[in-house]
Amino acid sequence: MSELILFWHRRDLRITDNIGLAAAFEKSRKIVGVFCLDPNILNGADIAPARVKYLLGCLAELQENYAKIGSQLFILFDEPRQAIARLATALSAQFVYWNLDVEPYSQDRDKAVREALKEQGISVETFWDQLLHFPGEICSNTGNPYTVYTPFWKNWIRQTKAEPLPSLEKAISLTQEEQEQAKNVGVVALPTLKDLGLVWDNPLMLEPGETAARSQLAEFCDRTIYDYDEQRNFPANPGTSLLSAALKFGVIGIRTVWNATLRASEQCRSDETRKGVQTWQQELAWREFYQQALYHFPALATGPYRDNWRDFPWENNEQLFQAWCEGKTGYPIVDAAMRQLNETGWMHNRCRMIVASFLTKDLIINWQWGEQYFMQKLYDGDLAANNGGWQWSASSGMDPKPLRIFNPTTQTQKFDPEGDYIREWVSELRSIETEALISGKILPLERKSCGYPAPIVNHNEQQRRFKALYQQQKALM
Ligand code: FAD
Repeated sequence: MSELILFWHRRDLRITDNIGLAAAFEKSRKIVGVFCLDPNILNGADIAPARVKYLLGCLAELQENYAKIGSQLFILFDEPRQAIARLATALSAQFVYWNLDVEPYSQDRDKAVREALKEQGISVETFWDQLLHFPGEICSNTGNPYTVYTPFWKNWIRQTKAEPLPSLEKAISLTQEEQEQAKNVGVVALPTLKDLGLVWDNPLMLEPGETAARSQLAEFCDRTIYDYDEQRNFPANPGTSLLSAALKFGVIGIRTVWNATLRASEQCRSDETRKGVQTWQQELAWREFYQQALYHFPALATGPYRDNWRDFPWENNEQLFQAWCEGKTGYPIVDAAMRQLNETGWMHNRCRMIVASFLTKDLIINWQWGEQYFMQKLYDGDLAANNGGWQWSASSGMDPKPLRIFNPTTQTQKFDPEGDYIREWVSELRSIETEALISGKILPLERKSCGYPAPIVNHNEQQRRFKALYQQQKALM
């Protein structure tokens, strides 16, 4: 009789190009999948309805894909440390397999689940799947983890990368009795967003699931990738892949994505197009850089990387924070970006940097407030990338440049030169003439008549104040 393996999905919501799942299939065809809706995450302060909507859509498709190979994906709605062991025991599973994650919470949780399974005499097998190079694989000459991106990238790009794995064949189905046993230990139907007490009615940037992610990747690598280097910084243009949520939840395998970039590279006929592909590959490396950083320095999740930022005298004005959250700062590019976030659950990368700089350097508000707000809104919200992005913008992270301050006006002039992005998201400014819109010189009367606020702070003044605070703080070190 075949041994039963329970495969625990977490950030790998697919049955193709999945290292742990393929290894499980090699051992036994009697596989059943499980996903645990974890109340610690769902009831946590960092939950975003848009992200949960995406997750539920991905799980629905994963259930269909399991059914196609003659197996099932069970859903549990409980603490994994009890629920996984309970299900594995009820099914008399000999093994539980899963792919590893870098987040501190995941590591503690996995340790507890592993111990609970050990007590039941059930073996655990784990794998690295979500990165092209797992943490610790790429180290500096001294054997230490990289803390600066450029040398990490130079080493990372040189390493051989694994090929995507082939699709799985038919599984051996569970017996009726085994299915009943699973139901008795808390397997539930996939809930709706409403069942979870959450609301998100707006469409997402990318439909959930593996099918949508695959066709998005194919479309992006067919055309957009070649102009990526030129177009990626203009938020009004559809110049990026929109694959961040698919990569966060592992709806598409990273090896599949990498392979698509290699095929795109082969089609390049000019230095510009080659640059497009390489710049996109560099973004995939940023994703891996931040994940390995979080793995090696878990304290990043709760505080600054650089010590001189630990006691920074943030002013944390709640009213200013509220205006930032609502997109009512009186700075059109900042407001456009925050409204895009609030309405779509996504924000263009250039704008993420602009609003993060504005919150920290202009409003002098702790980056962790912004980090949390992003997690409460982003449908691609991911601890490693979000924390990395916020610490980079606040200058508290691994960026070798000691201090960066973005000027919202010059950023607008460079990256939204026609004001198209602003007009799309800040409807009250649609009739303002382009020059005034992008130079920040909208007259007070005009602002009043279209119902748009005056700037809540003066950028030049705040920049001076911020630099003075920064120097004071440095002197204390
Ligand atoms: P593309 O430009 O097509 O890039 C391809 C992929 O590379 C992305 O899907 C993503 O997986 C990865 N990537 C690109 N840029 C980065 C980066 N700077 N850091 C890490 N990975 C990157 N990205 C998230 O996935 N989740 C987050 O929660 C997140 N929060 C951010 C917060 C701030 C303050 C900043 C400055 C950046 C943040 N990013 C985050 C990175 C980046 O903004 C998004 O990955 C990107 O905008 C997603 O759009 P895309 O899929 O079209 O990206």
